[in-house]
Amino acid sequence: MAVLEFNKVTKSFGSDHKRVEALKETNFHAEKGELIAIIGPSGSGKSTFLTIAGGLQTPTEGEIIINSQNITKLNEKKRSKVRLKDIGFILQASNLIPFLTVDNQMKLLDKVKKGNMSKTELEQLYNDLGIEDLRHKYPADLSGGERQRVAIAKSLYSNPSIILADEPTASLDSERAYEVMELLKTETKNKNTTTIVVTHDIRLIEYCDKVYKMTDGVLTLEK
Ligand code: ADP
Ligand code: MG
Repeated sequence: MAVLEFNKVTKSFGSDHKRVEALKETNFHAEKGELIAIIGPSGSGKSTFLTIAGGLQTPTEGEIIINSQNITKLNEKKRSKVRLKDIGFILQASNLIPFLTVDNQMKLLDKVKKGNMSKTELEQLYNDLGIEDLRHKYPADLSGGERQRVAIAKSLYSNPSIILADEPTASLDSERAYEVMELLKTETKNKNTTTIVVTHDIRLIEYCDKVYKMTDGVLTLEK
């Protein structure tokens, strides 16, 4: 059974002659244990797809189903509950809170949600991402690459059933980028979750079970 489903989804911005169809009619489904890549040029609709998938934006037409729940008609409060419980976002804009240390970013999640990683699992995650020495630092004291790795830790910490990553390796060197993809793959397989990664970097698609291409708002399966 699909974890995530798009049924006849479209997304337009603006009106009349200024109207942009960012996402043309899209049908899509993702299953448990799948690591999926979406590639495509800038402006093709990748981020629109990802933010709709995670309930951050609503579609213009069609419906989004997450773990059998149709989230399309839910009000913002209910959608934010679904996001908190089911979705791990790794977005281009960092999800880090400026006035909290790395450790406290995670502890904050413990206050709002149960079922997060144990202490030992978090230690392992810090080690896998090479951020174990950064735990008492604030986001402003981290480099771009470090911030990105902390943001990845934060989204995996809540054990989401769906991980949506927008260019998660953009500010990392190749070696780190491969390590992050390896980590996302291991998480996806071991925990039987679903991960969708938007990337420019075609070297990363080797890690993925399926590869979709986005062109002018049209999503097609490549592999
Ligand atoms: P990508 O992530 O592939 O670079 P986007 O999904 O960000 O592409 O954008 C797809 C198209 O939709 C672009 O033409 C972009 O300008 C437009 N678009 C995206 N978000 C908005 C918005 N909030 N308002 C107006 N146009 C938007
Ligand atoms: Mg984008």
